[in-house]
Amino acid sequence: MSDMAVKKEIFMKRLEREIKTVGIMIDIYCRKHHGGDRFCESCQELYYYARQRSLKCQYGEDKPVCGKCQVHCYKPKMKAKIREVMKFSGQKMIYSHPILAILHLMAKRKKAPSTKKRE
Ligand SMILES: [Zn+2]
Repeated sequence: MSDMAVKKEIFMKRLEREIKTVGIMIDIYCRKHHGGDRFCESCQELYYYARQRSLKCQYGEDKPVCGKCQVHCYKPKMKAKIREVMKFSGQKMIYSHPILAILHLMAKRKKAPSTKKRE
């Protein structure tokens, strides 16, 4: 495999993990606040939205975690919602999914690239 392919592979793994982390956070939040066994309609929508934003991130392989990003590509309504979810579930995840939570914290320490768009 070329260096590029390896980099891409690592990136896809990271993206997958990030999306998975968001899914778990929404799940924890929804169970507690909306009571169902699986995502309610609005949490489902939030999850798909977050997933799509991650996949379409303008930074591509340099993507920072969304909380650190300076672009804020989320719609205000979705942004407020995902913030609430992360605030609520972030702490709880340390107990239920310690490895994912720690990896997420580590990714958060990575500095976000500047807001300058890629040419
Ligand atoms: Zn819900």
